[in-house]
Amino acid sequence: RASGRLGGLNSENGAVNDAKNLRVKLVLLGDSGVGKSCIVLRFVRGQFDPTSKVTIGASFLSQTIALQDSTTVKFEIWDTAGQERYAALAPLYYRGAAVAVVVYDITSPESFQKAQYWVKELQKHGSPDMVMALVGNKADLQENREVTVQDGIDYAEKNGMFFIETSAKTADNINQLFEVYIIIAVSKYYILKL
Ligand code: GDP
Repeated sequence: RASGRLGGLNSENGAVNDAKNLRVKLVLLGDSGVGKSCIVLRFVRGQFDPTSKVTIGASFLSQTIALQDSTTVKFEIWDTAGQERYAALAPLYYRGAAVAVVVYDITSPESFQKAQYWVKELQKHGSPDMVMALVGNKADLQENREVTVQDGIDYAEKNGMFFIETSAKTADNINQLFEVYIIIAVSKYYILKL
């Protein structure tokens, strides 16, 4: 695991170029219990362990991905750590975030409604060039599904968001979720250079 440098920070746009050490601030939003911490742990540690609820709270977890051409992409992943009600109202939380990931639970229509509330908050307060994704988590619980894939797709499309269903439990689509942002960070680097 390579470690990225934090030089050349540009807090205004969130995805930053520094000799191909790219940094992406990513904020997670969504109802308590939809699986945000589990998604982060699955991505960062490769494990599913609902009992080890890390408090990311005031700070963030980071994960650096090294690509084959020696570009590194360092994710700074901010979780609300149970402060969902305040997070979207705290400008510091999403300031400089290149990416916002809004998570719901496919077995909970309430969490899907809540996700739509977070999207509206982000549209009101977030930076217009922030890339947003809508994530339907707990996709392993098909038998309890109450939000259809099409519901997710339709809402995401209307709001210019990426859409993916994940399972932190089985690891389905967790890496794919973050891969999207690696591609975005690398493209931004080249676009800024042009
Ligand atoms: P947070 O409050 O959004 O951070 O949610 P947590 O990550 O703490 O997860 C809440 C609960 O959902 C935990 O008991 C997890 O075991 C469970 N959970 C999280 N992700 C999944 C998943 O993909 N599938 C299933 N079946 N359960 C999950």
